[in-house]
Amino acid sequence: MARVVILGAGISGHTAALHLQRRLKTKADIVVVSPNSNWNWIPSNIWVGVGKMTKDQVTFPLAPIYKRKHIGFRQAKAVAIHPEGDADTAQGFVDIVYTDPTRLGEEEQLPYDFLIVATGPKLNFAATPGLGPDGNSWSVCTAGHAEQSAAALETIIEALKTGERKTLVIGVGHGTCTCEGAAFEYTFNVEHELRERGVRELADVVYLSNEYDLGDLGVGGMTFAQNGFETSSKMWTESLFRERGVRAILRAHVEKVDPGVIHYEVLDGSKHTLDFDFAMLLPPFRGVDMKAYANDGADITDDLFAPNGFLRVDADYETKTYDQWAPEDWPKTYQCPRYANVFGVGIAFAPPHAISEPRKSPNGTVISPAPPRTGMPSGVMGRTVAISIAERINHGDQAPLRTASMAAMGAACIASAGTGLRKGSAAAITMYPIIPDRKRFPDSGRDLTQTSGEIGLSGHWTKLLLHYLFIYKAKARFGWFMIPE
Ligand SMILES: Cc1cc2nc3c(=O)[nH]c(=O)nc-3n(C[C@H](O)[C@H](O)[C@H](O)COP(=O)(O)OP(=O)(O)OC[C@H]3O[C@@H](n4cnc5c(N)ncnc54)[C@H](O)[C@@H]3O)c2cc1C
Repeated sequence: MARVVILGAGISGHTAALHLQRRLKTKADIVVVSPNSNWNWIPSNIWVGVGKMTKDQVTFPLAPIYKRKHIGFRQAKAVAIHPEGDADTAQGFVDIVYTDPTRLGEEEQLPYDFLIVATGPKLNFAATPGLGPDGNSWSVCTAGHAEQSAAALETIIEALKTGERKTLVIGVGHGTCTCEGAAFEYTFNVEHELRERGVRELADVVYLSNEYDLGDLGVGGMTFAQNGFETSSKMWTESLFRERGVRAILRAHVEKVDPGVIHYEVLDGSKHTLDFDFAMLLPPFRGVDMKAYANDGADITDDLFAPNGFLRVDADYETKTYDQWAPEDWPKTYQCPRYANVFGVGIAFAPPHAISEPRKSPNGTVISPAPPRTGMPSGVMGRTVAISIAERINHGDQAPLRTASMAAMGAACIASAGTGLRKGSAAAITMYPIIPDRKRFPDSGRDLTQTSGEIGLSGHWTKLLLHYLFIYKAKARFGWFMIPE
């Protein structure tokens, strides 16, 4: 029986596992490897970070789902891939180390016929001295981090209630960060919470980002068609910042975070400091630490993985200038060029380049967002690769691979701007395609009829609905597969 090993049980890996099981039933042995025992609906960590949800509301244990679905599960982390096997076997295998408390530290070699790398990002706090919960700032990247942020925010709110003034800084903690949308969401949820608690006037809320303009969001900004007019995501976002009294510091690379002081450089090369009482700064991402070896034991990590640690797939990685970037550079099948049975999906695949225009300060510091790979495309990639593998198992190695390029895919993203069934709001953004295509859409690179932005209460309801729907789907409850990624 063919074995499919999936590394990672996040949005892309878990989606792939469920679709593979649905298509192959008992025809394949599907095994998921993930160091965490829980699944986390990461988008709702924002609400945990302001105390509106608990960790338990955004996570659930994976083992019972996999048991019910007859999917193997190893609570372990993958540390190395041997795509050619070794001196004893020609079959590819993965070295894993158990994180399961009952088998902690135990090692195992897991053979595979097909491998899906869906390990998401390594949260690279180490790139900026003092960044992160082990340093001097907070994070909402995991449910645990978000709980810590909520507790720290509560302390600030208590101090504000006594009449003290406080500065809250929210944003990204390095010039090469991605996920600006999450920082944006957390900013407006904190701002909303401060208003709800009657302490907004005493708080200076600052958004600190590597974006060139507000509304860039790592996708080079967008042009929206709204009520027959065209508007830019820049203008749209600026008006929200003005309305809510949030100060923005843009084009910034955080150099280090000392207790209460952020040191940062901006694109013109000048250096500044910013005092803070509370800071939530997202880390830059890189691939998780995995090695790769050929059958003779030679280290082939650099062949399999790009320098940023992400898996090389069927993208065009040739170095090009911004003007030369093309939609065709982006991967379609997510197949590893050297090993046809290895695939990389979600954040784990190496993008060919950024989407936002790359920029450097006169000091040579890169200050521009890395390309986001949000939940919807990550889920679509997971499903697409699952179908490709199922078809190869059913019909042989010549079965054509399915495609799902981000250059031919739309995305919908709802950025919460505050909770509450009557007082909540959210910015609902749709775009098509994710990767701008200036040949097809010469004006803005995207189809105006399918690129839109809307802010309001209904966005909040939709975001809340999606929270419950996606957790229902991830629990593989009745009819889960009818809920789109
Ligand atoms: C705070 C925040 C808010 C967000 N909000 C939104 C939103 O509103 N909408 C949206 O579309 N996107 C949002 N995103 C982005 C979204 O979370 C990601 O696009 C999505 O999680 C990517 O899926 P993934 O499967 O690639 O990675 P992940 O979901 O991160 O999953 C990676 C998996 O790999 C596992 N893993 C790690 N190392 C190893 C290893 N060595 N071996 C095996 N397994 C390993 C992890 O434990 C995890 O199970 C947000 C992100 C953040 C941080």
